[in-house]
Amino acid sequence: MTDLPTFSARLLAWFDEHGRKTLPWQQDRTPYRVWVSEIMLQQTQVATVIPYYERFMARFPEVTDLASAPIDDVLSLWTGLGYYARARNLHKTASLVVEKFSGEFPDSVEGLESLPGIGRSTAGAILTLGHGGWAPILDGNVKRVLARYHAIEGWPGRSDVLAALWKASEAVTPRERTADYTQGIMDLGATLCTKSKPECLFCPMTEDCQARISGAQSAYPGKKPKKKTPTRETYFIICIDSQGQLLLERRPPSGIWGGLWSFPEASNLEACTNNSSDKHPNTDTGAVEEPDSIDAVSVTSWLNEQGLVAVQPWTVLPSVSHTFSHFRLEITPVTCVVQNNVSRIADSEGQGWFTIARSLTLGLPAPVVRILQSLEA
Ligand code: SF4
Repeated sequence: MTDLPTFSARLLAWFDEHGRKTLPWQQDRTPYRVWVSEIMLQQTQVATVIPYYERFMARFPEVTDLASAPIDDVLSLWTGLGYYARARNLHKTASLVVEKFSGEFPDSVEGLESLPGIGRSTAGAILTLGHGGWAPILDGNVKRVLARYHAIEGWPGRSDVLAALWKASEAVTPRERTADYTQGIMDLGATLCTKSKPECLFCPMTEDCQARISGAQSAYPGKKPKKKTPTRETYFIICIDSQGQLLLERRPPSGIWGGLWSFPEASNLEACTNNSSDKHPNTDTGAVEEPDSIDAVSVTSWLNEQGLVAVQPWTVLPSVSHTFSHFRLEITPVTCVVQNNVSRIADSEGQGWFTIARSLTLGLPAPVVRILQSLEA
């Protein structure tokens, strides 16, 4: 075992033969193209990212194109990828690169890390793959390979475990062919040293990998301590006017789904009491009100607050759930056909009436897309 070539020499030899070399972001590599791919690949599989990346690059071939684009165009191309803070940070960072760095990405880890959404590992990837410099990286794939190779115990979310992994990454990153090594170790993690069923037989590290030797591959990296995921409930009020248009609102710029378009949300509906008079036709307006309403929920009150009047009983659709990293959102959609002639809601910067087809071209959270598609069907 003492005569084994170094970790990086074995990895580079493996990369030459088996590494991935035809991914779209590996062609015409520039810091900008590498950066966009790295951000898209955070928490998202390569196969999912490829079509998004290609559409994004066709629309924003240079950082200047991204910086000058309206945020809506960016969010629209991101719809379905999730973790929308990434898209907002991309847009913000593109503007900063243009304004503060004359359109050139900084060529140091510190300079890159000063930009929104770029952490140490992403900075390392941009530096090595985009600028041809030297820096270690530590994305999820690299953490898994190194944790197994050195049998580094513990969850990488813990600072001591993370520090040990960074130290290991620094120690094996070669000064020569750093870009190939960086791509190679990511590829090894993605194709052989996978989360389940790693293919150790074909791995260049099989002889001295500590996890393989002890047969404990699945123990590394250590799992995050389990916490029960809380569930939050909310209602989407889907107002439909007589022309079949839907009312959408743009969400505030920060928070979940920041800047995306969504149905008005009424998480406080439970607080509205449904008194008995709500259950009869309203003789003043001629509006029809829901005879068998959601328990303890007054859609009428909510509509009144918005200056809208329902002209048909509303319908409660099956719930849709969406899981975020810290909680699960249980959404109950309620459709209401409303009189648009009494609507005080006009098209504005933050609200508007859209056909389903037009809605689907906006930047939308995934559950809103699902609901729109089911309404369309
Ligand atoms: S030998 Fe197996 S566990 Fe070790 S690095 Fe290779 S694929 Fe991963």
